[in-house]
Amino acid sequence: MHVFEKPEDMRLWSRSQKAAGKRVGLVPTMGCLHHGHLSLVNEARKHSDAVSVTIFVNPTQFGPNEDFDKYPRVAERDLDLCRQAGVDAVFMPPAEAMYATDASTCVTEDRLSAGLCGACRPGHFRGVCTVVAKLFNIAQPDVAVFGQKDFQQAAVIRQMAKDLNFPVEIVTAPIVREPDGLAMSSRNAYLTAIERQQALGVSRALRSAADALAGGTSDAAALRRIMADELARHGLRPDYTAIVKPDTLDPVSQARPGDVALVAAYCGKTRLIDNRIL
Ligand code: AMP
Repeated sequence: MHVFEKPEDMRLWSRSQKAAGKRVGLVPTMGCLHHGHLSLVNEARKHSDAVSVTIFVNPTQFGPNEDFDKYPRVAERDLDLCRQAGVDAVFMPPAEAMYATDASTCVTEDRLSAGLCGACRPGHFRGVCTVVAKLFNIAQPDVAVFGQKDFQQAAVIRQMAKDLNFPVEIVTAPIVREPDGLAMSSRNAYLTAIERQQALGVSRALRSAADALAGGTSDAAALRRIMADELARHGLRPDYTAIVKPDTLDPVSQARPGDVALVAAYCGKTRLIDNRIL
């Protein structure tokens, strides 16, 4: 497995793969890898001949009072997991290699980024779009895989790739969960034992909404109340609950199968997100 820190080395590797007739896959991550990330690697392998993973805790997508400094960084363990998963190349640049001190260009997507996490985390998707555009230019993938776990992020990236004519196929992979339903996340490492139990409220809230819709409740306000109640029952503080159309992310007033329920909630100081296609 190759490990690159310099953008030019990563680009040379990608070019050499393509010169050999291979399709290059990319899985962008912030590290602290878990089975959710590894499922993206497996998905990437189905769509490509050489799989690359990027590990970069991107400072520009964190707000000033967010967890950039304490975000878990476990490089050696991540590299072991990538080796075991048969990854061909890992790109893990230092921050200086990604952002020059005089950098003054960024990428913004204006429509899909506006609501949900975009409304709660100003500037977040600008940071995401900018770093993913840079990673696409560096790693030059034919296909890139993103998790449904970050539903809005996947939609925003798909839009950006289309709008900016990136020659990259965007693939979305399903959410990988712990046996009890908690969506896997690097941020779960922050949870105390008690919070880990409370955190179950997030996936349960989504399931309650799905069950209520199946039982005939389609009023979105009622479904959101059901989710908020479930979060409160578990001692979680909602950032938002929403029911949206999957393609536009527009809120619906009457939910239908295929719409997406989304939750962001604080469990102690940890912000958890999850979603479910109803
Ligand atoms: P992150 O390292 O949190 O930035 O995530 C990197 C990629 O992994 C993103 O495309 C996420 O959507 C995806 N991902 C994170 N958690 C999961 C999960 N539980 N199941 C599937 N994909 C995930």
